[in-house]
Parts: sequence; C-alpha cells; structure tokens
Amino acid sequence: MSRSDPAGKTWDQIAAILRRTVPRQQFETWFRGMRVVSLTHEVARLTVPNNFLREWILKKYRGLLRGALREVLGADPEIDLAIAEEGDPSPPAQPAAPPTPRAEVPSAIESDIVLNAQYTFENFVPGPSNNFAHAAALAVADSPGKSYNPLFLHGSVGLGKTHLLQAICHRMTQRRPDMRILYLSCETFTNHFVTAVANGELDGFRFRYRHVDVLLIDDIHFLANRERTQEEFFHTFNTLYNANKQIILSSDSTPAEIPTIEERLVSRFKWGIVARIDPPVYETRVAIVARKVEVHGLPFPDDVVQFLAENVCSNIREMEGAVNKIAGMARIYHRPVDMEIAREAIRDLGAPGTARISVDGIIRTVADHYGVKVNDIQGKRRTKSIVFPRQICMFLARRLTSHSLEEIGGYFGGRDHTTVMYAFDKIRAQSQKDPELSKTLERLSSEVTS
Ligand code: ADP
Ligand code: MG
Repeated sequence: MSRSDPAGKTWDQIAAILRRTVPRQQFETWFRGMRVVSLTHEVARLTVPNNFLREWILKKYRGLLRGALREVLGADPEIDLAIAEEGDPSPPAQPAAPPTPRAEVPSAIESDIVLNAQYTFENFVPGPSNNFAHAAALAVADSPGKSYNPLFLHGSVGLGKTHLLQAICHRMTQRRPDMRILYLSCETFTNHFVTAVANGELDGFRFRYRHVDVLLIDDIHFLANRERTQEEFFHTFNTLYNANKQIILSSDSTPAEIPTIEERLVSRFKWGIVARIDPPVYETRVAIVARKVEVHGLPFPDDVVQFLAENVCSNIREMEGAVNKIAGMARIYHRPVDMEIAREAIRDLGAPGTARISVDGIIRTVADHYGVKVNDIQGKRRTKSIVFPRQICMFLARRLTSHSLEEIGGYFGGRDHTTVMYAFDKIRAQSQKDPELSKTLERLSSEVTS
C-alpha cells in the first residue's frame, strides 16, 4: 500500500517548497546535503552528512520538513533522519554541504544527560577496589568494539560507575569525534521505548538506537520488571553487538543478581567483561578526599583528610558531600578548615561510617590487644602499662568517631578534654617516629572498623 518513490522528482518538489519557505542561506546550510533513501506514506527515510545537521534539523526544522512532505506526498510520514554513511548513493548529485560553523558544532555525543565536566579519567582515582573497572573502561574508550564487548560495570551506589561511564564519553568525544555515541540512563531508554510504542514510532526508535557506534546505558538494573523493554533492548543489543559496536552498561549488581531479568540478557551481559567496583580502601579514600579538596582551593589539614577517609568509608559521594560541607562551613565561619569543623560537618551529615564505631568497641579492642582490663582503662590507675593503652584508646576515639574531646573524656572516668587532646597529640607524634606503633594503630583501627 505504500507508494515508494526513489528520490528524484518527489524530492525536487519537497526541496522546492523548503527553498521557498526558508531564506536561501538557511536552505544552503541545512538542507543542501540532505539525501533521500526512500519515501513512503509511512516513513520518509532521509540522510544528512553529520549528526550536527541531524540534531539541528530535528530540533528546528522538523515541522517545516513535515509540512513539505505532507504537501507533496499527501501523507504524514514519520521522518527518519539518519547520518549518511560513506559510499551511500547520493541522488541527486549536489555539491557537498558547506562546512558548519565551527563554534556551534556539538560533539558527536547524543545524550539526555549533561556530562559532568569533572567526571574524567584524569579525576578518577584508581585503587585496588576499582583498578580492573578503571582499566577496562580505558581500554574500551580507546578501542571501542574491539577489546571488551559489552563492558558491564557493577558496584553499589556512589562508587564511581557513572563517573567511569562519563569518563569514557569525554575521552571518546576528544579522541574519536567520528564516533556516534549514545549515552542514556536506563530510564530514558525505557521512556523512549514506551513513547515510541504509544505513538507507533518504533521504526524511528529502532533506527536511532541501532545506528550508533557506542551505546552506554547507566543503571541497567532498572530494566527489571520491564518485560517489553527488555525484549526491545535484547534486539538492540544483538544488532549492535553483531555490528561490532561497543556496548557499555552499569548496574548496582551483577548481571545474574538483577531481579527478573531475562536469562538471555544475563548471558549476553557476561559475554564481554564484567568488572566490579568495591568500596575503596583507606589509602584510596585519602587520595580521593585529597582530590575532591582541590576543587575548593581551601587547604584541608592532613588530620582532616585522614579523619574523612577514616569515617566515610562506603560511599564516595558521601565523602564528596562531607568535603563540600566542610569547605562551606569554613567559609561561613571565616575560619580555616580544622577538626572541629570536620566533626561538626560529619555529625550533621550523619555519615553511616561514623555511627558504627563506638568508643566502647575501641576500648574493648585495645584492652584485648594489650592484655589489660576494660575497667582499668576507664578507671583511675596511672601505671604506665595502663596509661599507654588508655592513650591509644583516646587517640583512636578521636580518629575514628565523631565524638568531641569532652565526650571522649567522659568514657574514661570523666577526664578533662585537655587530657584527651594531650593523649592524641602524644600518640600521633610518637607514631610518626615509630613505625611499629604506627602499624599497631593501623591494625587496631581496622579491627575496630571491621
Ligand atoms: P555511582 O554511579 O556508582 O552511584 P558516581 O559515579 O555517581 O557513583 O560517583 C559518586 C561520586 O563519587 C562522584 O562525584 C564521583 O566523581 C566520585 N567518585 C567515585 N569514584 C571515584 C574515584 N575513584 N575517584 C574520584 N572520584 C570518584
Ligand atoms: Mg550512577
């Protein structure tokens, strides 16, 4: 029933209408390079030389184009505007499209998400917990479709999945401007699909998703319980995969752990590389905090950096939040960043890492390590064999909890805050000179926090 018209005359008529409707310069800029692949009452398949033209036309001239098509065809076909592939037949012969104004040319990335300029590989701190994911992401960014396909990143919230996905986008738009990249949240993919189904625009939907070089979908676990979208994604996946196009996915769990996801998708997700991101270890946390501090241009003393690294452990977004909060408070107070501010900030944030560690737990652990009684540590005795572990307890309590000096003193028979401060300074100074003690402190800390 569809009347196929291979370019030629019909297109000339459409072009004539466009010429009539827009100023000559605009026609030359936007429509000169347009080619017809096929015209039916249902779909007008057109191409333009690049994504910039495509985006612009769809944004600014869709209505106009539709009007012209309607006028000539007497129908209202869906507009399927693609980017011409090299070697496409290009009737009618026309001079190449004029160069588009440089400043306006967007990168080849298409996304509903505004890329965060900070989420680059340069700003990503690698460590044992994320090395593998980091290396795989780099490899994929440098040779898409060739190294690992798909790349499946998973890890719990706030550990850098989105950061790595966007780092790939940044790197590819810089180094491979020829690549067509589509980066979306899973929700957007789902919404597009649902809308396309409702409006009978599945062809356009499919065309869009299956003609990219790189498809990145963040938080793919939201496909759970979405049977039809899963089905559609399955086909998108196959088409891209078979064409050696790169697919990159992130999720909060392993493929198999995503509830109600089809088995055939699970198995495909495992075809390439599945890389897990774990919570960062202490050294990585210190490095990350130090990196996040840089953007504020405010010096953070080492003890504050360490305090944050010790207290906010399982979510990097929260670490970042704490840094921001501290910097903000220092500005408001017109004071340099110090431990008081850091403690207050952490307390307000109710960081989960801090609540778990109790002073009682610290005292039990330390007492056990030194073979002394809990009662003695909390009591009045001043023999050396008791005083030293007591001071260690105070040091750790200050390091690992968000209690104030006064509060800590309360756990040790109501000792004065200056006593706690003295103990802290003394143990810190001593541990800086004595690697053995420093190691012991490290071991005790990790025992207390585990
Ligand atoms: P997810 O998507 O896994 O929930 P995000 O990628 O949004 O987590 O990361 C949360 C925050 O932590 C972001 O601001 C990100 O920049 C930061 N972040 C995560 N991992 C790192 C890292 N290794 N180095 C630097 N910043 C990181
Ligand atoms: Mg994310």
